[in-house]
Amino acid sequence: MSISLSSYRRIVIKLGSSLLVDNNTGLKVSWLQSLLDDVVNLKQTGCDVLIVSSGAIALGRTVLKLPKGVLKLEEYQAAAATGQIVLASTFSSNLATRGVHSGQILLTYGDTEERRRYLNARATIGTLLEFDAIPIINENDTVATSEIRYGDNDRLAARVATMMSADLLILLSDIDGLYTAPPLQNPAAQLIENVREITPEIQAMAGDVGTELSRGGMITKISAARIASDNGTAMIITSGTRLNPLRALDEGVPNTMFHANGTPRSARKKWISGQLNTKGAIAIDDGAITALKNGKSLLPAGVVNLNGDFSRGDMVSITDKYGNELGQGVIAFDTENCKKIIGKRSTDIAKILGYAGRSEMIHRDDMILKDPSRPDNENA
Ligand code: GLU
Repeated sequence: MSISLSSYRRIVIKLGSSLLVDNNTGLKVSWLQSLLDDVVNLKQTGCDVLIVSSGAIALGRTVLKLPKGVLKLEEYQAAAATGQIVLASTFSSNLATRGVHSGQILLTYGDTEERRRYLNARATIGTLLEFDAIPIINENDTVATSEIRYGDNDRLAARVATMMSADLLILLSDIDGLYTAPPLQNPAAQLIENVREITPEIQAMAGDVGTELSRGGMITKISAARIASDNGTAMIITSGTRLNPLRALDEGVPNTMFHANGTPRSARKKWISGQLNTKGAIAIDDGAITALKNGKSLLPAGVVNLNGDFSRGDMVSITDKYGNELGQGVIAFDTENCKKIIGKRSTDIAKILGYAGRSEMIHRDDMILKDPSRPDNENA
């Protein structure tokens, strides 16, 4: 089925190690260049593109001429350090010659799973996109240890996609998609083109088709699909082994599409409304109530009072000045800083706090209101 990539707003593309690295000759530069041609074309249609690139360990092993087989943890980490620097510089220089900036982001598990670090990672990647640069992301394999790492970039890419509210995640792999049975062992296996729900049958089809160079087989891809679709992100698995693999998707090469449940925005609103524990409450004036009902963000100027002890990123309840609950949302400042800026204009925040934080106290996408008349109140 042909996929019109330019109809998506924000796409995360995950590249498997075996596409990027030949374990005898190293980086597959002409393949990478054909991919980057496609990426730049896609970007020119107005779509944000993020790349999650594997290949650091595989490339490092080749550069350092390490033996095949299992290595010690510190040897994997040294290989990742060596491979990553080559990988990043290759992306950077090849995008620069195409007139596009890039930025390297190395994440550990805690950066996507701990609220505070998640917010920081999201803000940095979001700012790179605002600067029109392409984030090149990998797990920080040089410091991540086995207990606290993803270990596979399929799930990492899915978390990045949901963190950044991408509407599509593409896993470029060495297999066309999900088959009814592992195709190498079973010639009658059929490709499944559309998955609308990840049922136990779908899960059972995963088998394990990982290759020597990559860690993620079909099992981690199904886990990635679950993370993505639950958060409103569609996901495609397709083979990237041909040149210009994104153009090929437009042209209709085989793939499996895992459809999203709702949109990233509706999934986020659902998540917010499902959070039962609030860490505090902020009371707002009538003007702010009207603004919120019209779909605006909550600014410090509209807040009249607050209580509780919360950190940036915590869930707080939003009330009127009499304490009647109106809704809840994710607060952008901690209690101490909130106290300093309530009632103040957003333009004064930097002067008061000594740094330029967000101008909203709760962003419109980070709140739900109980009042169903609010235009974007999808899940309240
Ligand atoms: N982060 C690993 C690397 O860059 C790859 C993990 C994977 O293959 O999914 O080498």
